[in-house]
Formats: sequence, C-alpha cells, structure tokens
Amino acid sequence: MSTAVYPGSFDPFTNGHLAVLKCACRLFDTVYVGVLNNTGKHCAFTLDERRAMIESVIKSEGLNNAKADAFGGLLVDYMSSVGAEYIVRGLRGPADYEYERQVELANLHLDGGVRTVYFSADEKYAFLSSSIVREIGSLDGDINGLVPDAINKIIAERLNKR
Ligand code: ADP
Repeated sequence: MSTAVYPGSFDPFTNGHLAVLKCACRLFDTVYVGVLNNTGKHCAFTLDERRAMIESVIKSEGLNNAKADAFGGLLVDYMSSVGAEYIVRGLRGPADYEYERQVELANLHLDGGVRTVYFSADEKYAFLSSSIVREIGSLDGDINGLVPDAINKIIAERLNKR
C-alpha cells in the first residue's frame, strides 16, 4: 500500500491543486490532502473552511482514495502518524523548484524514509496560485475556471465580503 501526503496552505484550493491531486490519486493508493495549520501565516480562510472545501471537491470529483485532513507541526511527524512515505508537491516553474528542493532536503534530513514526488503544472494552470484567486476574488473579478466548481460560489462570496 502506498500512501502519500499532499501538504499545503490551500488558501483556497485551486484548479491547479486539483490537477496535481488527480495525478497523485492515480499513482498512490491513498492520498491525504494535509492542510497546514500555519500559525505564522495569516490565511484568508480558516483551517476548517479550507479542509471542508477540499472535502467537498474530493466528493464531487469522486476521488475515492483521497482524504481531506489538517495538521500542525512537522510534516514528517504527520506523515508517520498516517503511515505515509511520499510527499506530493506541484511545480509551476523553476522558481517553485528552487524553494521545493530546499524543503525536500530538509524533510529528508529529518526523516530519511520520506521521498518527494513532483507533478508539473498543467500549462493552463501554470500562472495560477491561491494568491491570484484571492486578489481577483476580492476585487469582485470572475474566478470561474480558476477554482473547482464545487467551491466556486463559497470562495467568491467569502472573498467579496472582505
Ligand atoms: P504552500 O504554502 O505549502 O506552498 P500552496 O497551497 O501554495 O501551499 O501550494 C501547495 C502545493 O501546490 C505546492 O507544491 C505548490 O507548488 C503547488 N501548486 C500551487 N499552485 C499550483 C498550480 N497552479 N499547479 C501546480 N501546482 C501548484
């Protein structure tokens, strides 16, 4: 049984994240989407809102081997608590890789048993980030096509109110 964790802030979850998750679900038996309880970073959506939105995307997309979860503390500790050996991350370009490689090596240093697997962004989502969605949504722009349909309305309403 291969188990992976796809960790991230997911503030909010986008179609770029979803494309990565779909690839991971084809490769691994179980994929935990781990929303990071990042105490040092102010998020637009609460931890529970982010986790609940991912749960509804997983359900509407029929990704039966994916689970939405939340964690705090070290990723390697969370991985050992769910029995995962693989970390899933997405790459939009060289800038992402530079940062990701450093984190990959830090995780390997902490636990030599974990391996990071990267999926390249779909070309149409290579520009897409949660912060772009927050920016467009808070200016009342159209976020259709940028976030999964199942959570489009809730994201638009929440961002618009801010
Ligand atoms: P973090 O704060 O941990 O970087 P994010 O939610 O921003 O969390 O991203 C989680 C992961 O998804 C990262 O590996 C990031 O590179 C990847 N990612 C973000 N947007 C995209 C996208 N449009 N296409 C592919 N991967 C993406």
